[in-house]
Amino acid sequence: MIKALTFDLDDTLWDVWPVVERAEALLHDWLAVRYPRIPERFTPLELRELASEVSAARPDLAHDRTGLRKAALMLAAHRADYQEFDVEGAFAVFFIARNAVEPFAEVRPTLERLGQRYPLASLSNGNADLRLIGLDDLFVFSLNAIDVGAAKPELPMFAEACRRLNVRPEQIVHVGDDPEHDVFGAARAGFRTVWVNRTGRDWPGGPQADAEIVALDELEGVLAEWEGASRNRDRITT
Ligand SMILES: [Mg+2]
Repeated sequence: MIKALTFDLDDTLWDVWPVVERAEALLHDWLAVRYPRIPERFTPLELRELASEVSAARPDLAHDRTGLRKAALMLAAHRADYQEFDVEGAFAVFFIARNAVEPFAEVRPTLERLGQRYPLASLSNGNADLRLIGLDDLFVFSLNAIDVGAAKPELPMFAEACRRLNVRPEQIVHVGDDPEHDVFGAARAGFRTVWVNRTGRDWPGGPQADAEIVALDELEGVLAEWEGASRNRDRITT
């Protein structure tokens, strides 16, 4: 039987990339006023790529997107010859804008209905803040890679979710858009998996998800089918 549901956030409950790009543009404008040599030297994309450079040099920060963004900003300030730099102020500009996401229309009504039947939790590799986004009331808890100290597809976030939900992995359904982080990672942890494929992508290979949906409101049908199948199995075996 299904006892709980876990959800990825970015690109599962909202489109994240347009919002990240806008946040990067706003940060660039903020830097142009306060630290003009940084945007003169780095485009928004180059600032993002600096985070990848930091990630390669600092494996201890690889799961921490907030830490990576801050370290990349510090590196940019250093390379632009600023001795002093307000990294917290700069990151705050990015962070507020990054959380101005618009959940897909079906998200809140679907999660409200599902939340009456199952505890819901969120498992994210990113630094979305559900309080700022206004969906925190729907989840019993939210885990992210920064707090757990490891990102999906590694096991710790899934294991921590099992522990907090106090159910066995096979009783949890994980729902997410990323074939590796969400489907492979959750399946390896023993969860059932639902792949959210809004844009008609081809499956990249490897073991497939237990179900595939285009939008979140298809989830109730999938769960009803699974619950029905397990009830029939119980009838046959008892
Ligand atoms: Mg995602």
